[in-house]
Amino acid sequence: MTQVYYRDQALEAIARRVVKTHDAALLSSPRAIPIEEIIGTCGLEIDYQYIRNNGRILGETIFDDTLIPVYDKDNGQYSFISVRRGSIIIDASLLQPAKIGRLRFTMAHELAHWLIHQEIYTGTGESAAMLNKPLKSSEADAGLERQADRLACFLLMPTGQVKTAFYHNRNHADLTAAIANLFGVSRQAMDIRLKELRLV
Ligand SMILES: [Zn+2]
Repeated sequence: MTQVYYRDQALEAIARRVVKTHDAALLSSPRAIPIEEIIGTCGLEIDYQYIRNNGRILGETIFDDTLIPVYDKDNGQYSFISVRRGSIIIDASLLQPAKIGRLRFTMAHELAHWLIHQEIYTGTGESAAMLNKPLKSSEADAGLERQADRLACFLLMPTGQVKTAFYHNRNHADLTAAIANLFGVSRQAMDIRLKELRLV
């Protein structure tokens, strides 16, 4: 068993526990996991702001009460807002119907940071930001981002439910799109998930 394989197993177990704690029935059949409600169950609050004027940061998890800069579209400038530990800031540019998959994935990614990276970030004054394009960052940061992406993937697309949906929809003309729609994720995210499960 490789280290990477073990890590995914551990992350999937965390995802299952979090979803089951919210509502065990969620894992009984394929469906869109209500990530926003689960975030509330975990004691977190979501706030929508324009984090940057270029949409470069899609989400940010706040581990310490602090001030963060956000872009004020009306005035065309940045201003500081006070944010509390346990806030997830989501970029308001994701509040468009066409971006629902990206929005949900960003929420799941930020929740993942809260679930597994609290000890790393708390007390540092750093937040865990999801970047649209990766900035130059250390290997460690890249590793943390990958872990958050993996956990997000397991939260939104549990293995058993994706496999069930695959068999139910296997005669569908556009199988990937149908299942992506069912789970409320982007087609690209579901395509990657189906490939790693060796279903397509
Ligand atoms: Zn991140």
